[in-house]
Amino acid sequence: MPPRPSFQQILTEAVADLRAHGYDSKARLQKWVRALRRAAEAATGSPQLLESEISRTLRKAYSQQVTGGVLARRQGIPAYTVKKLSPALQRELSRRIQASADLITLNRTQAIERTLQRFSGWATAQNPGRVTPEKVREIKADIAKPVRSQPFEKRRVIIDQTAKLNSNINYLVASDNKAIAVVWDANAGRPNYNHRKEHLARDGKIYVLRDGWAYRQGLITRGAGIYEDMDSFGELPFCSCRGRYLYHLDQLPDDMLTEKARKALAKP
Ligand SMILES: [Zn+2]
Repeated sequence: MPPRPSFQQILTEAVADLRAHGYDSKARLQKWVRALRRAAEAATGSPQLLESEISRTLRKAYSQQVTGGVLARRQGIPAYTVKKLSPALQRELSRRIQASADLITLNRTQAIERTLQRFSGWATAQNPGRVTPEKVREIKADIAKPVRSQPFEKRRVIIDQTAKLNSNINYLVASDNKAIAVVWDANAGRPNYNHRKEHLARDGKIYVLRDGWAYRQGLITRGAGIYEDMDSFGELPFCSCRGRYLYHLDQLPDDMLTEKARKALAKP
């Protein structure tokens, strides 16, 4: 059996056929739209394949952080604390895999539809018996662009969802381990990255965890604000901000401590 023609081959044939005959019938257009759809679906990988690829990548990130102990080391907490939390962390992992798979499948569907729309738009403008002097290579590139950019889009989604996974896992572990506040790290030195102005403005500022014991007991002020009231690290698309969690009162600047805390700290 000869190998199935590629998306590019089908597109080349479709464009040549429409240029030769023009848009003379709906059937001619439909025939090519069907063929292009099949080829584009094959070129962008089946949803099952995409999902298993995403699942592999995110599970790898998860096992580095959680099972591999990176998270415990970085946050300076015992490995068993992380292990104890694993049901909640596993849930977060499943949530991220599902969200990534949904996003990538949706992007893929939209990309294929956009390519077919571009093709139909161009095809129905071809008049029979009159070949317009067009640059065929550019026409094909323009029609194929949404489908061609799929691998790039897919990578972006996976990178973004991995950042969200890490950020949410960090938060879950830190809160369970009685963190009281977090320092915003806007990743300011990251090259070739379009930092959000609002996030750069948060760089180095201390935000309070609403349910942390220190704030609940009235030992600290709100600092620069309550962390849970804002968009969290990595929540907005492609945000690469991170947090360094604080656990003790003496890690906070004096002006964040209340009178009550100062009295408590002053005790021998
Ligand atoms: Zn950010």
